[in-house]
Amino acid sequence: MTQQNSARTKTADISREKSAQLFEKAKQYFPGGVNSPVRAFKSVYGTPLFIERGDKAHIWDADENEFIDFCCSWGPLILGHNNDQIREAVTAQLSKGLSFGAPTALENELAELIISNNRFIEKIRFVSSGTEAVMSAIRLARGYTKRDKIVKFEGCYHGHSDSLLVKAGSGLVTFGETSSAGVPKAFADETIVIALNDKEALTAVFDQFKDQIAAVIIEGVPANNGLLLQTKEYIHYLREITTQNGALLIFDEVITGFRLGFEGAAAYYDVQPDIITYGKIIGGGMPVGAYGASKELMSCISPDGSVYQAGTLSGNPVAMAAGIATCKVLTQPDFYKNLNAKTELFVSEIRNYIEEKNYEVKIFTIASIFWFAFTDQEAILKASEIDPNSMELYKLMHRELLNRGIYFGPSGYEVGFISHAHTNEDLITAKQHIFAALDLVFG
Ligand SMILES: *Cc1c(COP(=O)(O)O)cnc(C)c1O
Repeated sequence: MTQQNSARTKTADISREKSAQLFEKAKQYFPGGVNSPVRAFKSVYGTPLFIERGDKAHIWDADENEFIDFCCSWGPLILGHNNDQIREAVTAQLSKGLSFGAPTALENELAELIISNNRFIEKIRFVSSGTEAVMSAIRLARGYTKRDKIVKFEGCYHGHSDSLLVKAGSGLVTFGETSSAGVPKAFADETIVIALNDKEALTAVFDQFKDQIAAVIIEGVPANNGLLLQTKEYIHYLREITTQNGALLIFDEVITGFRLGFEGAAAYYDVQPDIITYGKIIGGGMPVGAYGASKELMSCISPDGSVYQAGTLSGNPVAMAAGIATCKVLTQPDFYKNLNAKTELFVSEIRNYIEEKNYEVKIFTIASIFWFAFTDQEAILKASEIDPNSMELYKLMHRELLNRGIYFGPSGYEVGFISHAHTNEDLITAKQHIFAALDLVFG
C-alpha cells in the first residue's frame, strides 16, 4: 500500500521498457503486433505488457513487474496460474505423446466427468476453441431444423465465425450488418440481431420470420460487452417462445460454463437449452471447446448424421489432461460456494466504498465475475445502455491499477474474474488499490 501518497496523485508509471521493445519487434511479425486484437492495449494507456510467467493469482511481465491478475487469460484460469494438479497432469501426458489423431481414453474420462455432473447435455463433441464450438452448434441447429436464419443479441459475443460477426442495424428487428470486412452480406442476411432484455423484439422476430428461424443464441450471461445481467423471467420467456416456434435455443456458455457453477447458466436459470457450447475453463488453459446436446440432436453430427464437423487436434490428449485435472477440482464439494462467497465479499466491500464516497460507478457481479460500469444507472441490461464516453474513466483506472500492481483486462467492456487461487490477502491488497484508483478517477 502506498498510503503515504496523496490519494489524488497519479502513481508513477511502471517501467515497460522490455515490453515496449518486444512490442516493436512483434509489430514486424503480426498485424498490430498481436495474435488477438484486444491484447494491443488500444483502449487503454501505454504499450501492451508482455507476460513472462504466472503463479497462483500473480503474473510477472518482461520488466519483472508483478501484478495480481484479474484477467485470468479472459476466464479459463478458474484455478489460477501454474496450478499443481493441472501442471502435473499435463507433464505426465507430455512424455506419452502430444497428439495421435486417434481416440484416447482421456477423451472418455473428460466427457464422463462433465456429462455425469451436468443434467443439461447427454452427448458432447470436443473441438479446439469457443469459436469452433459455436460455429458447429449453429450448423447443427440449421441441419436439424432445416432452417437457415439465426437470431443473436446485440452485446453478445460468440467468437469470430462469419454468421456471428454481425451487429444490429437500426430498428426493433433488423437483419445484421456485418461487423467485419470479409463477411459476405448474404451471411449477415441470415442473422437477425435484436436487443437483450426486450420481449417485444423477441415476439416481433418470431412474427416476422415464422418458420424460418433455426436457433436463437445467447450468452449464458452476456459478459463480453460489459456484464449484462438478464432477468430469469426474460430467459424463461426466451425458452418458451423458441419452443413454441420450433426454433432451438443455444446457450453459449463459453464463459459461464463451469463458472456460474459446474452446470453453468443452464442450472442457474433452471432452463434446458437445446445446445450448449463450452470453451475457456473446460481446457484449464489449453485450447479446448465443446458443444453438447441431447442424444437425439447429437446424432445429427457426423459420422452418425449428416452435419459435418471434424478437427485434426480435437480431443487433444494434453488439452484433455488439463481439462480433466480442472474438472476434478471443480466437482469437489463447496468449490463454487467458496469461490462465489470470496467474490461476493470483495465486491460488496468495493460497493460500500463507492456508495460511501458517492462515486458515479457501479460494480456488477455474478458468481466469480465482476464488472465496473462508470454509470449512475442502477442496472445495465442491454448494450445500448453503456455510455462509450465512460470508457475514458476506465482508462484512467486501468493505468493507475497497473501502476499499483493490479492487472485488469485492457478494455472497459471486459469483465474481471476471480480464481480459486486468489487469496484473502490478494483480495484485500487489490481492494485497497482499487479504492485508491477510484479516488484518483473521481478526485
Ligand atoms: C471467448 C468466447 C467465445 C470465443 O471463444 P474462443 O476460444 O476465443 O474462440 C465465444 N463465445 C463466448 C461467450 C466467449 O466468451
